[in-house]
Amino acid sequence: MEKLLIKLKASYPFINFKPGATFSWSPKTNHVIYKISPDDDVVAPWSLLHEVGHALLEHNDYSSDFQLLTLEVSAWEKAKQLAESLNYTIDPDHIQDCLDTYRDWLYQRSTCPTCTNCSLQTNSRTYACFNCGTNWNVSSSRMCRPYRKLAKAI
Ligand SMILES: [Zn+2]
Ligand SMILES: [Zn+2]
Repeated sequence: MEKLLIKLKASYPFINFKPGATFSWSPKTNHVIYKISPDDDVVAPWSLLHEVGHALLEHNDYSSDFQLLTLEVSAWEKAKQLAESLNYTIDPDHIQDCLDTYRDWLYQRSTCPTCTNCSLQTNSRTYACFNCGTNWNVSSSRMCRPYRKLAKAI
């Protein structure tokens, strides 16, 4: 990942790169946070490209979980283009797994705890069920949820 980082820093001097606990993009300070990873970690460069994707698309605010999912999709699209231009390949299965993690999470948040009806988000922290009228609060959503490794069904 070190080589990739050097290239990205040279290509995008307006982005600040900083080591940290997890890969993330911080729009307020224009920082891409990266986790220092061993050279044989194949996923780390993909994560880095994804965060740079958010940075280049200037993603900052989102008002709903669904919108967050669309930002994730577009950040991966950008990451794929970047990867191509730098002679990297991102495994499409990895991208799908990451997006599936978001979709599962979105599904859980939007399912009514009373009647399990699929419901609508009314603001960034609240969902309302149009079937039974239940309202419930959710934690604030955030970009770039850590990738959860899913056991692949055989
Ligand atoms: Zn309900
Ligand atoms: Zn992301």
